[in-house]
Amino acid sequence: MPKTIIVSNRLPVKITQADGEYQLSPSEGGLATGLGSIYKQHNNVWIGWPGIEVNSDEDKSAITEKLKEISLMPVFLSQQEISEYYEGFSNEVLWPVFHYYASTYASYKQSNWDHYREVNQKFCDEILKVAKAGDTIWIHDYQLLLLPALVREVMPDVSIGFFLHIPFPSNEMFRLIPWRSELLEGMLGADLLGFHTFDDVRHFLSTVTRILPVTSSSNIITANDRSIVVESFPMGIDDKKYGSLPLTQEVIEQVNQIKEAFKDTKLILSIDRLDYSKGILQRLEAFELLLKLHPEYIGKINLYMIVVPSRENVPQYVHLHDQIDKKAGSINALYRTMDWSPVHYYYRSFPIEMLSALYYSADVCLVTPMRDGMNLVSKEYVASRVNNDGVLILSEMAGASKKLIDAIIVNPNNIGEICRSIIQAIKMPLAEQRERMTQMRQNVSKFNIAHWVKIFMERLKEVKQLQRSMQTRHVSGTTGQSIINRYAKTKNRIIFLDYDGTLVDFKPNIAQAEPDKQLYELLSLLTEDPANHVVLISGRKHENLSEWFGNKNIYLIAEHGAWFRQQNTSWHKISGLSDAWKQDIYPLLETYVDRTPGSFIEEKTYSLVWHYRKAQKGLGELRANELANNLKYLASDKGLQLLPGDKVLEIKNMEVNKGKAAALLVDKNDYDFIIAFGDDYTDEDIFKALPDSAITIKVGSNISAAKFYLRNPGEVRRFLLDLTESTVVQDK
Ligand code: UDP
Repeated sequence: MPKTIIVSNRLPVKITQADGEYQLSPSEGGLATGLGSIYKQHNNVWIGWPGIEVNSDEDKSAITEKLKEISLMPVFLSQQEISEYYEGFSNEVLWPVFHYYASTYASYKQSNWDHYREVNQKFCDEILKVAKAGDTIWIHDYQLLLLPALVREVMPDVSIGFFLHIPFPSNEMFRLIPWRSELLEGMLGADLLGFHTFDDVRHFLSTVTRILPVTSSSNIITANDRSIVVESFPMGIDDKKYGSLPLTQEVIEQVNQIKEAFKDTKLILSIDRLDYSKGILQRLEAFELLLKLHPEYIGKINLYMIVVPSRENVPQYVHLHDQIDKKAGSINALYRTMDWSPVHYYYRSFPIEMLSALYYSADVCLVTPMRDGMNLVSKEYVASRVNNDGVLILSEMAGASKKLIDAIIVNPNNIGEICRSIIQAIKMPLAEQRERMTQMRQNVSKFNIAHWVKIFMERLKEVKQLQRSMQTRHVSGTTGQSIINRYAKTKNRIIFLDYDGTLVDFKPNIAQAEPDKQLYELLSLLTEDPANHVVLISGRKHENLSEWFGNKNIYLIAEHGAWFRQQNTSWHKISGLSDAWKQDIYPLLETYVDRTPGSFIEEKTYSLVWHYRKAQKGLGELRANELANNLKYLASDKGLQLLPGDKVLEIKNMEVNKGKAAALLVDKNDYDFIIAFGDDYTDEDIFKALPDSAITIKVGSNISAAKFYLRNPGEVRRFLLDLTESTVVQDK
């Protein structure tokens, strides 16, 4: 039975040693709970670092045995690997860059990168020990960015999902990393790439298409002939656990103690792991400002601040800890009274029952990270508010803010705004609290951790199916052979060939895409066969087609069907067409040329084309959209059609259409074999206009009305050659 393999840097377990014996205690984190529904079932397994350094082989096998009982499989790391791969590269390059702290905190050391690569390989080796064809592998987080491609190299067909738990930064940040291409190539080994928010997806798509030679169409990237889907899956929490904990005796007792201790004051809760991305100092500053500007709150409010120790070996974290200690101390020193302290500061972690009691008791939860992939504390607070009251103040830089829109949303850099929002929260009427909290609770409950796991796994399955259906549509193997067999048996064929992007690759300059010797030879082979009627159907100008193919035995259709020419005759154009509209549209296009360096206008008899292949990437697409929007109504008034193509936007008479031109030719004769090749939007009209029996082949893997596809002009040429050779063999 195929299995699922979960892979993350850390295993969901804590290992301690007592009296020479290793003790395992399973982790209670949200991810462990969510994925528990997977890795504990059947023969599934979770692979990761067990969290302690183990040196002797004997100890390693003892731990491995114990872990096996709870479906876990260890990757043992040496002290040096931990300090270079984990602390050095993951936490001193990827973490700061992905949280927009590149300039302050990132340090790019070659040896850290070398260890990052080696440890990713080590994880790959462990996976390969257990993975079989048909298995599904779900890899987690920034410590393992290279892993998807490493596994893919050995197991090309295996299903791989990847989820990034931290933000994905804008390209302007990401491209600072010296090993940026390798990291992206690593990620592209996955079939499905998941991020918390749509912003992360956007950043990833624009980064990957700028840095690597890959293309994307909406959220699908095509790389090495594989379609990779990129999507957002906002991670949730175990809402039921947080909803039921406040009803337990242990939590009720703690709640009573907290209520007693803070009975005359409003309790503001703040919980974070120690990290510069969490905005802890700024939060303290906002609280201090409040006490300074509004002394009436002295003695009336408390900030209960938990900072969980983290990365204590990294000097920047030690420094930050020091600063927070000082700040909290100085606020208390300034404002404390005999029976009241403004900040209750704890630098340690607490058991979940105490956290639950705090979530349940706090009037306000103040969550103001500078950047956060999701932020679970905010969701845990919401899930714990079983009476639907309480106020959440949430940073707009946390992924959670995209869903918890009923929180008071703040910019964490705006100390004044945070200060005002605390006052707003304290004063908020109960009815408004309930209204907001009810909405947020519904959201946290619907998009909980189980839902997150479910939709990710379902989507991964769908992506694999999509890839498989693409494979069967690809003209190769049996699919290709059956077309060839049909071709060989038939005697009256019509072959429609688009030119640019179908027979030749795109070039930066349209004149450069001229036919080469090999193409002429191929066309001769096709036209030599008296059973073949070859039709070249292009958007190019008729003068251009005459120049290149005028003396060949080919039926030429130019400008998407406006002009046509039978072999050895002169050109004709569709009658009754007007080009008067051009004088209105041309000046508009000129304004776009003026505003978009690298773009230009091409004029044809019944169409105008705005080319932006040489414009700056992104700007061209932006302007093309703007132009299309601008032209939308004008075009329909004037009976024009807008054709967005490959780095072009063409405006042409509605009556001119490759599909109509093709259908006219097909109707004239009783062909027993109809085939059409085309790569862009305009060719879709041909695919749709041809009869059902026709074989339609799209060049490129985008969605199409065509029945089959080939990847590029090289594959088209090879296939056309195969067709011609099939009859040669038969004739013998
Ligand atoms: N947490 C904990 N012990 C504590 C305080 C917090 O286990 O003493 C948990 C908290 O419940 C939450 C997690 O730590 O689930 C923090 O997750 P979040 O997404 O907010 O931040 P991260 O640390 O992942 O950046």
